[in-house]
Order: sequence, then C-alpha cells, then structure tokens
Amino acid sequence: MTRSIVVVGGGITGLVSAYLAAKEGKRVTIVESAPKIGGLLNTFEIGGSQLEFFYHHFFTHDAELSWLLDELDLKKEVLYKKTTMGVFRKSRTWDFNTPFDLLRFKPISWIGKVRFVLTTLFLTKVAQWRSYEYVPAYAWFRKWAGKSATQALWGPMLEVKFGPYFDKIPLAWMIGRLRQRMNSRKSGDERLGYLKGSLSVLCDRLSERLVEMGVDIRANSPLTEIEMNGNSIARIHTGSGTVEGDQYLFTLPTVHLGKIKGLPATVKERIDNTEYFGVYCTILSLKRSLSDVYWLNVADGGFAFGGVIEHTNLVPATEYNGQNLVYLSRYFAHSEDISSWSKDKVEEVMVSDLKRIYPDLKDEEINSVHLFRSNTAAMVNDLNFSAKVPSCQTIIPNMFLCNMAHIYPDERSVNNSIRIAAEAIMTMGMDGQSVPKNLSLSGKIGFLNS
Ligand SMILES: Cc1cc2nc3c(=O)[nH]c(=O)nc-3n(C[C@H](O)[C@H](O)[C@H](O)COP(=O)(O)OP(=O)(O)OC[C@H]3O[C@@H](n4cnc5c(N)ncnc54)[C@H](O)[C@@H]3O)c2cc1C
Repeated sequence: MTRSIVVVGGGITGLVSAYLAAKEGKRVTIVESAPKIGGLLNTFEIGGSQLEFFYHHFFTHDAELSWLLDELDLKKEVLYKKTTMGVFRKSRTWDFNTPFDLLRFKPISWIGKVRFVLTTLFLTKVAQWRSYEYVPAYAWFRKWAGKSATQALWGPMLEVKFGPYFDKIPLAWMIGRLRQRMNSRKSGDERLGYLKGSLSVLCDRLSERLVEMGVDIRANSPLTEIEMNGNSIARIHTGSGTVEGDQYLFTLPTVHLGKIKGLPATVKERIDNTEYFGVYCTILSLKRSLSDVYWLNVADGGFAFGGVIEHTNLVPATEYNGQNLVYLSRYFAHSEDISSWSKDKVEEVMVSDLKRIYPDLKDEEINSVHLFRSNTAAMVNDLNFSAKVPSCQTIIPNMFLCNMAHIYPDERSVNNSIRIAAEAIMTMGMDGQSVPKNLSLSGKIGFLNS
C-alpha cells in the first residue's frame, strides 16, 4: 500500500522534502500556516518585479540548490556576478575585497593584519569544527587575531549579528560561515548568484510541480494539535481541518512546534532549549545608487543595522524600473529592546542611521521604505550546540523533525535546507540519494549515521 506523508511547514525544507517523497510515489500533504508557501523565501512586488523580503543570494558551490534548479528547469535562470564587500569603520567606508584592501585598512595595526591573515587561513583551511564547539569565537579572536582585528572587525560583526549572545557563539559556527564565503571566491573575487525574477520563481515552479505530482498543498492551515494513538501520531489538526498520514515530518521552527497542543512531552523537552534570532530587513527604494559596494558590514557601534546590502549591485536596477534597492538588516535576540520597536520607529531610526553613513542622501531621493520582520530568522547556535540538535527520528516512530537546527555548524541557507530535506527523507526510509552532497562541515547531525 502507498504510504502517505504529511509535511508540516511549507518553507523550502518542507517543499523539497515533499518533492522527494512524491518522487518516490508517496501520497503527500503539505500544511502551511501562512496564506502562501515559501516561508523565509517570500517576496513582494516592487518596480514591476518580485523581491525577497529578506536579501538572498547563492554561492557558486551550492550543489544541492543547483540540483533543484536543474530539476525545475531553472538552472539557466541564475545569474552569477562578481560582488564587492566593504566595512564601515571609524566613520568611513573601506573596500574589503583584496589583500591590498587589507593593507589599506587602517583600523587594524600592521601586526594585527598579519594575525588576521594567519587566523583566517587557519579557520578556513585547517581547523576542525568539532574541536571548537566549546570555544567562544569572540574570546578566540581576542587571543589569536589580536585586539585591533577583534575591535575593528570580528567583535562588531559578532555583536551586531548575535546581540547579547555575541560572546557565546562557538568558533565552530564561524568556521562554517567563513568556509561558505571562501568557497565562493575565485582568485579573491567573490561571485554570488541570484535567480532571475526572484525566489518566487523557484517557489512557484516547485509548487506547480508538486501539484502535478498529486501533492495536496494546504495553505492557511496552521498546525494546532497533534493527536496521538498510543505511541504514534494518529492525525494532526490544522486551522482548515484534520490530516492523517503514515509518517509526519515537522519542518516548522521548533519554537512554534514546542507550543502545539498534544506534542508528546519527550519531544517537547528535546526542542524546548532551542531559541531563534529575529531579523528586521528594511528595504529602501532609492532614486540613485548609494555606492558600488554590494555588502557593507557596519563595524562602528551605535547603528540600528549591521549590514547595508545594495541589492541592485547584484541585480541591475533596470529589473525594477530603474529603482535602486537597498536592504538594511538587523538580527535581534528576543530579549533586546529593538525587538519591541514599532514599525515606524524601526524605519525612522534605520533611515536616519543610513544618512550617517551616506550624509548626502536626501529625503527626496527615497521613493519608498518597506519593513519586513521574521521572529525565526536564524537559530541561536550557542556553545556545544550539536548536543542540542534534536534527532530527526524522534522517540515517536512516525514523527520526524527537520529544521534549521540540523544545518549546524554550517550557515543556514536554501542550499543547506535542501541538503537536510534529503537527509530527513532518507531517515524516513525513502531515497534522497539523487540530491548531491557538496561541501558541508557536518551534513549529518541529528540524522541517521551521525
Ligand atoms: C535575513 C535572511 C537572509 C537570508 N539570506 C540567505 C541567503 O542569502 N542565501 C541563502 O541561501 N539563504 C539565506 N537565508 C536563509 C534561508 O532563507 C533559510 O535557510 C530557508 O529559507 C529556511 O527554510 P525552512 O523551510 O527551513 O524555514 P522557513 O522558511 O521558516 O519555513 C517554515 C515554514 O513553517 C511554517 N509554519 C510555522 N508555524 C506553522 C504551523 N503552526 N503550521 C504550519 N506551518 C507553520 C512557516 O509559515 C514557514 O512557511 C536568509 C534568511 C534570512 C532570514
């Protein structure tokens, strides 16, 4: 008899899991709480095109993503472009792309530059992440990269991304992050990719394919209750009715799953110690470009955002009727004040802070401001996080988990979501082998054979 699979959460992890299960001939139902599938990949219309709520680019080595694009006949639609990075420090912007840029970067002393290069090489080429799960990145940088490199670069980067957790993030995470970025470089140049038309093209094509394969996609159907029969899930209840299956894969954020009625206590205990960072992305549509830098890290303190990402330095402004689009991003812990700011306040403070970086930016050059927020933007990967990663196969035989926790110590990404979806499918006894496995530090935490 054909087994039926229920996937909870219609983000990319859930959609790809459903796709792999449907390819195996399973009857699949996806339940998604939002009116639209896509989760963090959702988009809105601007300048006649779609744009992600949250900045998204791909890396040249994203093999799993490349596989999916190929499956959906979208591979030719990805544009790769050389992009540039800068650092705002000591009230000015410094290019930060080549060894010459490092030589010119005055906030780091000469000795600090040597230590910066040696420690970066060590982290990207030599260090084994397992040995650094207990080692806080901040303290390690302070000791080995030195005071000036930590003050000018690593410290601000950790503070702005992790807020109150800045000194609790393990070096293991930093190893994953740096390797992801370095592997996208060729002779020093970083090339990043973007799907023409936005990620809505991928989500739409994937959902069309799923429907053709007979997958029942139920949007506006938040999971509200898990009903057990002995030691197995009998059915789940959603805002739009009851769904039954043989196996259930939960891809929604664990903070949401933890609150669901009927969730077995043993599973709840396992996931209740995981936390998420939220994020604000304020998108500005401008009449002109701010600079030629794609990604500007703000390393001076006292700014409401940590990154200025000029999207139209990756994708031409002509795609948006000539509008220049800039993301201002700020991750936050839910205990931070900023997490309770009103929409108006976030927009106002961010725009005014942007004018501190670009003092010649005039109000009349701003066409519009759009604010997007997610409360589950990234997981708090604190010290020894691998011990917190819940097993994909839970103690309940027909209950499986797959979410951002399973990506650690790699950086969460679309590519890595596809990878963990394949791992979950294999853990559920199906075939996920068609998905290639590219560079990954862990690949297997929480899955079979880990
Ligand atoms: C600011 C930002 C920038 C990023 N930049 C990049 C980038 O440049 N490149 C890259 O590759 N990746 C990037 N990412 C990461 C990427 O977006 C994520 O890794 C990926 O989208 C996670 O997918 P997911 O399906 O695991 O989670 P989600 O997208 O969060 O999906 C979970 C789904 O579960 C649903 N759900 C929640 N509660 C319920 C419920 N009760 N019942 C049913 N459904 C429920 C949600 O609505 C959601 O659709 C970025 C993310 C953010 C936030």
